[in-house]
Amino acid sequence: MADCLFCGIAAGDIPATIVSANSRTVAFRDINPQAPVHVLVIPRAHHANVAELGAAGEALLCDLVAHAREVAVAEGIADAGYRIVFNTGPEAGQTVDHVHAHLLGGRPMSWPPG
Ligand code: AMP
Ligand code: ZN
Repeated sequence: MADCLFCGIAAGDIPATIVSANSRTVAFRDINPQAPVHVLVIPRAHHANVAELGAAGEALLCDLVAHAREVAVAEGIADAGYRIVFNTGPEAGQTVDHVHAHLLGGRPMSWPPG
C-alpha cells in the first residue's frame, strides 16, 4: 500500500534492522525498544490491524505468530518467556496501521500493562 511505512520496510524501500524474513513475514528491530528484545513481526501483505488480518481468515496470522516464536528462540528468550502484543486502534496506542506483532522479552514484565 502506498505511503505505508511497514509496506516500505517489507519491500526493502525503507531501511530497518531486519532480524529474519521469509516469503510471507518480516521481523525487524523496533527503533524505540521497550525491552532488551523488542522485535516487530509483520506480514508482507498490508492488513490494518490484527482484527482485520484475523477476519481475512487465512493462515497468515498463524505464520506471523510462528515467525515470532522463531525469533524468540533465536534471541534466547523462549524459555524465560516473552510477550506478543498487537496494539489495535488509537486508544490501544496503535500508531502504524499495518498489523505488527510486538515481540517483547529479556526482562521481567508486570501485569496489567499501564
Ligand atoms: P504501535 O504503537 O503498536 O503502532 O507500534 C509501532 C511501533 O513501530 C513503535 O514501537 C515504533 O517504535 C515502531 N517504529 C516506528 N517506525 C519504525 C521504523 N522505521 N523502524 C522500526 N520500528 C519503527
Ligand atoms: Zn502496509
